[in-house]
Parts: sequence; structure tokens; C-alpha cells
Amino acid sequence: MKTAIATVSISGNLSEKLAVIAAAKFDGVEIFEQDFIAHGLSPKVVGQMARDHGLEIMLFQPFRDFEGLPEPERSRAFDRAEIKFDLMEEMGTDLMLICSTVHPKAQGGIDRIAEDLRELGDRAAKRNLRLGYEALAWGTHINDHRDAWEIVRRTDHDSVGIVVDSFHTLGRKISPESIRAIPGDKIFFVQLADAPLINMDLLYWSRHFRNMPGEGDLDISDFMQAVASTGYDGPISLEIFNDQFRAGSPKVIAQDGYRSLMALMDDVVREQPAPHLHVPEMPKRSEVQGIEFVEFATDAQGALSLGALLTTLGFRHSAQHINKEVALWSQGDIRIIINTEGNSFAHRSFKIHGTSVCDIGLRVEDASGTIARAAALDIELHPQPVGDGELELPAIRSVGSGLIHFIDQKSGLSRVWKTEFTPVPQSGSTGVGLTSVDHIAQSMNYSDMLTWSLFYTTLFNVQKKPVVDVIDPAGIVRSQVIESPKRSLRLTLNGAESNRTVAGSFIAGRAGSAVQHIAFKTADIFITAQALHKIGFESLPIPANYYDDIRARFGLSPETCTELAKFNILYDEEDGQRFLQLYSKPFGDGFFFEVVERDMEYDGYGAMNAPFRTAALRRLMT
Ligand code: MG
Ligand code: MG
Repeated sequence: MKTAIATVSISGNLSEKLAVIAAAKFDGVEIFEQDFIAHGLSPKVVGQMARDHGLEIMLFQPFRDFEGLPEPERSRAFDRAEIKFDLMEEMGTDLMLICSTVHPKAQGGIDRIAEDLRELGDRAAKRNLRLGYEALAWGTHINDHRDAWEIVRRTDHDSVGIVVDSFHTLGRKISPESIRAIPGDKIFFVQLADAPLINMDLLYWSRHFRNMPGEGDLDISDFMQAVASTGYDGPISLEIFNDQFRAGSPKVIAQDGYRSLMALMDDVVREQPAPHLHVPEMPKRSEVQGIEFVEFATDAQGALSLGALLTTLGFRHSAQHINKEVALWSQGDIRIIINTEGNSFAHRSFKIHGTSVCDIGLRVEDASGTIARAAALDIELHPQPVGDGELELPAIRSVGSGLIHFIDQKSGLSRVWKTEFTPVPQSGSTGVGLTSVDHIAQSMNYSDMLTWSLFYTTLFNVQKKPVVDVIDPAGIVRSQVIESPKRSLRLTLNGAESNRTVAGSFIAGRAGSAVQHIAFKTADIFITAQALHKIGFESLPIPANYYDDIRARFGLSPETCTELAKFNILYDEEDGQRFLQLYSKPFGDGFFFEVVERDMEYDGYGAMNAPFRTAALRRLMT
């Protein structure tokens, strides 16, 4: 499989773009003319630079407003093309993208356009160049790939083919099925872009909001399956116009692009076998069965205060690592690790981020399969030295600076707790009824959110929910839920646009994105709240106004509201299904724990309560 990306997709100057594109393992590039002109190097030097990076220049684009013009504009358009042909020869690429015209003087007429392309095809053929005609979604006369194909068919020219672009087809809600009728060798190039469904002008939407396959709402897999069915075996390229990407880290955007393309093509060939595309094989998306542990990095002082907080949540220091300064705290099926070991990943993480979650352990169906898929997606693996009596637990680097470990039953990794930990003798309390981790909330800059969701959705069998805006007194936080089909993994990603929001100041305070809260599940939040109260847990105070509001909103009895208010429990209800939650006070610079009780069919996270929680946290933090 030949992969490519258009230089316009990435920030930086052309030299920087080529370097990161090569580093992200793409085979080639589309040179976007503006990038080339702005950079100021000669076509020859640019061509050499690409080849020095091991990149093939697979396309030069775009050549605009060429076809259907009256004289003298028509002759001028041909002259313009010849100059670009010179440039392509010097640069060392043989394919030019011609996008359908929006020239005010352009006349329609399918045969006139075919005639123009045929004549230019003759001129291109003399130089061994080829032309790919693309229907822009907003083209004046040609804005549908079916019409573009009819024109290409009528040129009946070996040097003229079609370029199909998922955005232009799917963005106009045109079914990609008709692509299946195009001979594969007449498709000269394939461009892919996804986009979120937003109601706005097509051109504006296209130029600013495209994103990587899987990051938006278009069915790129369906489109690409149609292309694959034709026998097309040329480059598969990303052409992403996105304001955020242009301001983002070129390295990360290029990596995201490669990752999205690999995952997409894996999806495609699972539905539409296409051996001619030679898509690298990888295991299917990993099935997450649950959260096995959450690990905090800290020092001795931090361990004391974190341990004290966990104690007031009913946790016990239940076991100690056989070789390391690693304590296991547990309750129900929840395992919290407090790592104070020097010269460890955790220690380095603590040095940079302070006391925080440095590692999440996921229970998966197949740990080695998960690692193999991660490697195929170019996710960095994190092998660690294995001490005496220790198991080799596979791990990867997460998007932020943390780790994710994988534990499965299949290869005996779930023995780790018995093998590597010695129980600490217990007495007294037996917990407050917390049974498992309900969800983990990670905060990040809004601009990094797509990178995070792409990471999870390409590696794991999880779904994204629509982004919800959470109002913080200091700005908006965008919240995106990622969950597995059986809800054994629930994550909320909170993207902060302003450093003044609670999520924003949390990440600003610790150099990068991080776990901001962990929610534990209980079967009965009132019993748990009683028990918590007895052992000295301090819940986040919620104002009385809130209880007046929910009493009115849900028609709750005064007695229920009094009970809820007594323990600072927040309440939500959907279709008669209840969700109850309470929070700890903030720990350190804004981390907190949450306790939830959810009815079976309640599938949310109490989003309507988030502004009140945020305001309550803010009162304590300022
Ligand atoms: Mg395009
Ligand atoms: Mg929550």
C-alpha cells in the first residue's frame, strides 16, 4: 500500500513538512502549490529534498479554473498549464490534479470540458505527464464525481483520469457506490478527508474543518471500500484542510494522519477484501474488559496525603510490591497503586508533573494482540526492565506523557497481583461499598483532543459520543465520551480552550494533559455516603440552590432532596433512570475523586451537573 499526505495538511514550512511526513512513515506527498511557492526553493531542490527523505512526490496540486473557458482565457489557461508542466518535470512528479472550475467565465458543457482535457492530455502525454480531474463539491458546473467520471470517460485519453476525494463526495451526501463502476486504472489518485457534520457553507467547511479519517462523521470506510472494489492500487492520500492542524504540532498531526490511515485501511479490507492493496495486517481493535489499576506517581510526602485521602474513601493499603516502593490500595475490584520508587518511569513522571496518574492498567482480551495493533498504528511501545519474580507486563506510551499497561487472563498476566505483591495484614474497616472504576476523566488542551480520541478509537473497540459543551465559570470545556460497547471502559476527555477553566488550569499546572478525576461505582450511594461520612470523608459542598432546582426539575420529594443535600449528592435522571454522584474536595492542584451510582440503563455522566461541580471546585481552589 502506498500512503501519502498533502503538504497543506500540516503546519510549518515545506522543509519542515517533508521531514515530519517522512518521519511519520508516509511513502509520498502531494505538493500543494502554495506551500511550494511560499517556500522559495527551486522545484529541483524541493524534488531532491523529498527524495532525500525517501518520499515520492505523487501529485502536484491544484491546477484551478482550467476547463470550459472561452478565448482568450482558454489559450491562457493552456499556457499556464505548460508552465506548471515545466515545474512538475523539474520537481520530478508526473501527476497534476485539475480541480473543476469555479471561473466566472467558465461555460458548462460536458463535451467542451472533455475536449479541453483531451487536448491538455495530449500535451501532457508528450512529456509523460498525467492529469487527474477532480470534481470540487462547489464547482460551478462539475461538482459530482459521477459527472467528472463521465468527462474523463469521454476524453478517452490514457493520460487523463479521475481523482476521487471523499470530502467532495460525502460532503455533498453523494453515495460513493457509483465509484464501483469506474475502472480502477482510470482512478489516478485517491484523496481522503473526514469532517464533523456542521451545517455551513461547503467551501468554508472544506477549507477549515476537514479532519483525519475517523475523527469526523463521514463514512470514509464506505467510500474507500467502493474505491478498493475497483482494483485501484495507487496511492491513498490524506488531504486535510484544518485550521487547528495548521496551528498544531506538525509531528503529532503527521503521526495522527498515518495512524488514521492505517486503522481505516484495516477496517476497509475487513469489509471489502482487496489483496491488490497490500494493506499491512494487524489484529482487530482490542476489547477492553475493565480497568485493572490506576497508578499514581508521587514521593513519600505525596504518598502520605494520597493515602490519607484514599483512607477516607474506604480504601486500604492491601499489598506491597515484592521489589519496589509500590503500594497497592484496594476496595472491591478497584486497585490504586501508589508508586514512590526512585529511578522509575513513575519517578520521572512525578518530577515533571507532580503527584498524578502516570499509568493506567487495562484488562484486555488479548494483551499481545493489543501490543501488535499498537505497533502497527505506530504507537510507541514501552518495554520495562523485569525484576526478579516479576511478570513482563506489556505497555505503551499514551498520548500525553503516561503509560497504559495491558493485562489479560489468556497469557497469565492477571496473576501479577499474587505474583508481585505481598499482602499487608488487615484489620478494621471493610470499605464503603465502592466496587469498580466507573470512568476516568482526562483533561487536555482542546487542540489535542482529536489526537486523544483518535488514539483510543483506532486501538480499542470503543465509540465516541457527540462532544458536549460544559460551562465553566471561566470558559467552555468540551467534553467527549469514549466508551466500549459493554461500557467496561468509560473515558471522558475534557478539552480546555482557556487556562482559566478548572480543566485548563489543571493541565497548565502540570505541563500537559492528565487524569483529572476518577469515578468509582457504588450500588447504593446513600449507604456509601453514610459510611464515608463516618470515616471522615469530606465531600465537595453543593449549594442549596441546586437542590431547589432539581426538586423542581425532577419532581423529587422534599425528603429526598434533604437526603441528597445532606451528603452533597448530585442527581440526574433520563427516562426514569437515575444517576447520582458525589465528589471529593480537590486534591493538589485540581484532581478529585467521584462516587457514582447509576441505574442499569442510564448511559450518561451527569453532564447537566458538570457546571455546578465546576463552580463548586472553583470556590475551593481560588
Ligand atoms: Mg481534493
Ligand atoms: Mg465524572
